[in-house]
Amino acid sequence: MTLAETPFSAPHFPTLKGRVALVTGAGSGIGRAGAMAMARHGAKVVVTDLDADKAAQVVEALKSEGVSATSAGLDVTDDKAVSAEIDRTVKTYGHIDVLHSHAGYQVEGNLEQVPLEGLDLSWKLNVRSHFVAARAVVGHMRAHGGGSVIITSSNSGVQYDREMIAYATTKHAVVAMTRQMAADYAKDNIRFNSLCPGFIDTPFNAGFETQMGGREKLERYVSKTIPMGRWGTTGEMADSILFLASDMSTFMTGHALVIDGGECI
Ligand code: NAP
Repeated sequence: MTLAETPFSAPHFPTLKGRVALVTGAGSGIGRAGAMAMARHGAKVVVTDLDADKAAQVVEALKSEGVSATSAGLDVTDDKAVSAEIDRTVKTYGHIDVLHSHAGYQVEGNLEQVPLEGLDLSWKLNVRSHFVAARAVVGHMRAHGGGSVIITSSNSGVQYDREMIAYATTKHAVVAMTRQMAADYAKDNIRFNSLCPGFIDTPFNAGFETQMGGREKLERYVSKTIPMGRWGTTGEMADSILFLASDMSTFMTGHALVIDGGECI
């Protein structure tokens, strides 16, 4: 059990009590784990996902632990809906301190294989949606004295990835964009960091599993390719999300935090 999965108890751990966080793509995987961790550690969390039911299930899971949160259906490619949800959060709680803009898209293939629509959708989800969400949140954060924006990239944002041209290109672009935002808004005490996971065992890898020729081959690939010889867990990712969201990282901005068992060394 990681720190993020543990109910808050350590008095020295910076609490998120009084903080308000919104997470996109939080109905599953890393976003879910991060949202649950922030809620366990005291934040008021708005759990959003394309599928409203999945987001609601996360709130139910928290409720069974005695932790409260709210949920909403939110498609991050819908600009107006993203702004409206952020505004609604501020209207409800008075401020927003953490945005974890997490939802993303992976289409496999090299230059000749990726359909142009796949490249466009990768750009829309992996870059543009983060731009829109970050733009919607900065004014609120500035008015409240600062905040932390966490944008999910990938370790494919800092290294190149075999036959993943649309994914690697857009994940690099979002690291660059996050650094630019960090430089522009540091004076407002708004921190922007990108989260760069390696292989984390979630439904997100279904396409890569097919590309590799099935689960067994993927398992072999992971144990051979990752220096630590294994998948990362969503709990390990949630620990990093807590770090970026909380006062444990107050002097850190513009960073690409790679958590990948050494894959991109
Ligand atoms: P996941 O378990 O599949 O969760 C992603 C969630 O986002 C799903 O509930 C998904 O819904 C939702 N979603 C998809 N499109 C959306 C949209 N337009 N608006 C709002 N929500 C949407 O995946 P994950 O492991 O958490 O990974 C997601 C993010 O982490 C991506 O940005 C990805 O690039 C990054 N990442 C993951 C890994 C990894 O190994 N898992 C590694 C590096 C980076 P549906 O299931 O209905 O599509």
